[in-house]
Amino acid sequence: MLIPERNVRDVQTLRDLVRGEVVTPADPSYDQARLAWNLAADQRPAVVVFPESADDVVAVVQYARRHGLRIAPQGTGHNACPLVWDANTILLSTSRMRGVTIDVMGRRARVAAGTLWLEVTEPASEHDLAPLAGSSPDVGVIGYCLGGGVSWLARKHGLATNSVLAIEVVTADGRLRRVDAENDAALFWALRGGGGNFGVVTAMEIALYPMPQLYAGAMWWDWQHSARVMHAWREWTMTVPDEVTSSARIMRIPPLPDVPEFLRGRDFVTIDAAIIGDRAHGAALVQKLRELEPEIDTFDMVPPVALSRLHNDPEEPIPGLTEHRLLADLPAEAVDAFLAAAGPEANSPLLLAEIRHLGGALGVAKPGNGALAKLEAGYLLFAAGIAMPELVPALKQALPVLKAALAPWDAGRGYLNFEETTVDSRLFYDELTHRRLARIKTQMDPSDMFRANHPIKGSE
Ligand SMILES: Cc1cc2nc3c(=O)[nH]c(=O)nc-3n(C[C@H](O)[C@H](O)[C@H](O)COP(=O)(O)OP(=O)(O)OC[C@H]3O[C@@H](n4cnc5c(N)ncnc54)[C@H](O)[C@@H]3O)c2cc1C
Repeated sequence: MLIPERNVRDVQTLRDLVRGEVVTPADPSYDQARLAWNLAADQRPAVVVFPESADDVVAVVQYARRHGLRIAPQGTGHNACPLVWDANTILLSTSRMRGVTIDVMGRRARVAAGTLWLEVTEPASEHDLAPLAGSSPDVGVIGYCLGGGVSWLARKHGLATNSVLAIEVVTADGRLRRVDAENDAALFWALRGGGGNFGVVTAMEIALYPMPQLYAGAMWWDWQHSARVMHAWREWTMTVPDEVTSSARIMRIPPLPDVPEFLRGRDFVTIDAAIIGDRAHGAALVQKLRELEPEIDTFDMVPPVALSRLHNDPEEPIPGLTEHRLLADLPAEAVDAFLAAAGPEANSPLLLAEIRHLGGALGVAKPGNGALAKLEAGYLLFAAGIAMPELVPALKQALPVLKAALAPWDAGRGYLNFEETTVDSRLFYDELTHRRLARIKTQMDPSDMFRANHPIKGSE
């Protein structure tokens, strides 16, 4: 029996209610419609709805409310793997709700629900403005901001979620609200770090930062130099000001035909960094790294939009398996442990193993910040592999091995955006914050309509 006939009563009514498309398992396009960016996620919703406007979202929420259904809001599906599906859940894809308005004088942008980061960074950059975008150009602005948001400007300007100025959201009562520091302040607080648990966001207003001078780039060495480079980077991070945000990575480039020949099939250790300031300032800061004689050195003055592709993140959907750990600090032994698990000697199947430098403004909770007021960690471990069937068993072994290797330096929390498995959401917050989020969940969504990738249960 087809799922929607059983559980989404009267699909035709839903189709009549929305301008956007409604796709059921009976439709030939269902398998395409249910795809997430991360192709390793096998999403099985009762029905997929592609709203085209906030009115459509209101209609879907009111329909779900009448029929006791659940809604999983999704922008791109970059973090779709933790979602748990049942036959009562509608996948609400905001991918057709696009649009960005830049207010140059007010230094803010209003973005529609399905907007991707590059769609903001490009027009903002024309005015020497930058949002706190992440390393990937096609991650969704909304999902990223609801979960935190560690950008290339993070050590100077903090988590992106705390630079969100207002949110338009349809709540479980079917109302579209505009929430900010003055209106529905508790909900505004919860949305900034509490993820997609409290409603469907239809638009967001975010701060843009003047960025007239930016020195950024990457340095690459053959991975035989991993120990020398990673240790030097570690020491360097302890000396740099908050204007510098950087990461160091082991990268194993697959032998694919569309990869440039000089990179194809090779293994590297790389350092990427963004430095707010002029050329002399930036060049002086990276001098210590240049002395390590990289094979490739792309550091230069760049417009803000260049940060979108600094990290060379994949822009097409891929099947990925990942792991992460927030690290309290990074002594030399931690770098040794990282290299033993992911460096040349380990010969691991991981595509990349990375450590990002946190700290600075990321670690400071300012008055008015949201539920994720800060990230209490000095560094962030992230690793990923391509989940091709033949690689999955090896990845499922290598990822936990790397994570375990860094356990002695664990910061005691997880980071929602980088967690791609199903975990208890208490991992992301201190106890008081989690309790407050649970209370707001009960108030705003008593029937637990909204199914986030990292669910927060209402309190009793
Ligand atoms: C290649 C890559 C690079 C990344 N780089 C960074 C980085 O530099 N910094 C960083 O902090 N993170 C980074 N991330 C993690 C990324 O921020 C998370 O995966 C984030 O959840 C993606 O948001 P999305 O909307 O694209 O994904 P989705 O999977 O669509 O959304 C994730 C969750 O957000 C919620 N959500 C999304 N849209 C809405 C909405 N309209 N209303 C309500 N809830 C909604 C839902 O709960 C949803 O399950 C990266 C991830 C990848 C795969």
